[in-house]
Amino acid sequence: AHQPAMSPSSHHGGAHGWDASGAPTPMHKRLDGKVAIVTGGARGIGEAIVRLFVKHGAKVVIADIDEAAGEALAASLVPHVAFVRCDVSVEEDVERAVDRAVSRHGRLDVFCNNAGILGRQTRAAKSILSFDAGEFDRVLRVNALGTALGMKHAGRAMMARRYGSIVSVASVAGVLGGLGPHAYTASKHAIVGLTKNAACELGAHGIRVNCVSPFGVATPMLINAWRQGHDASAADDADADIDLDKIAVPSDQEVEKMEEVVRSLATLKGSTLRPRDIAEAVLFLASDDSRYVSGHNLVVDGGVTTSRNLIGL
Ligand code: NAD
Repeated sequence: AHQPAMSPSSHHGGAHGWDASGAPTPMHKRLDGKVAIVTGGARGIGEAIVRLFVKHGAKVVIADIDEAAGEALAASLVPHVAFVRCDVSVEEDVERAVDRAVSRHGRLDVFCNNAGILGRQTRAAKSILSFDAGEFDRVLRVNALGTALGMKHAGRAMMARRYGSIVSVASVAGVLGGLGPHAYTASKHAIVGLTKNAACELGAHGIRVNCVSPFGVATPMLINAWRQGHDASAADDADADIDLDKIAVPSDQEVEKMEEVVRSLATLKGSTLRPRDIAEAVLFLASDDSRYVSGHNLVVDGGVTTSRNLIGL
């Protein structure tokens, strides 16, 4: 009989999406029986990751600072999803989120470092000539330190079973300059670097470490940034009045408008990048489908970072 290209690893308990003849199975649950934590899972890209992980059979713990949104999403996906309040820049919170997943489900297979903030988007705030040390610290603490803490505590929990996948969400701003504020760009480059370093070390324990780098997705983060840039005819003087933590739920019109902006900047025409596209890339790296991939940055940008016609966002 025809043999599949790789034999299913029964050790990890999952079907690999093909039957004994090598044909794909109709409903291949790529995270069947796995336990995952998704930081920043309450909305946006994180929410899409949570929903897709659940469709693929995972038990998921959302670790987010937004209790209202996180609890509501978990309640809608009960019993597959639980919420834990967690500020990823606070080590005890990250440790508690990992402990919660392990005590509830007995193991941790996947840790997705998705939580992130963009920081201020006004012209003044973006300029290196008006570099704000406090803002730099705020953004780096969430995006870079938060990711490192996730790797630390996920790595510790995964080591015992010599199995696990850590997937962080970086950005095209972690590949090229000119695509975001300085602090954000520095923090996303840091995630790519941490991914490579942690992959070198944790590979010895059977743990894979990768990241995904999206181009623009019309989430509350990007739409809020767009609002800041636009409300801000006065913006360059009115930085102090911008409430960075208050992000109203975007209207459908705002989402469509943002998608149109991204489409106009995109290299690949004819498609719109959506949260689900990022979730699919994270799913690939989280699952055994990528079992020999580690230290990789999977760019999901329709080719933008390979184009010489790049327009700064
Ligand atoms: P979003 O603002 O819509 O969602 C971010 C989520 O993270 C929210 O639920 C928020 O409450 C949570 N969060 C923020 N700070 C946190 C903290 N300290 N601890 C725990 N949770 C926290 O943003 P998004 O667009 O969905 O972004 C998700 C990730 O994707 C981020 O890392 C972002 O940098 C990255 N990204 C986004 C885009 C884009 O265009 N939207 C592009 C490239 C990369």
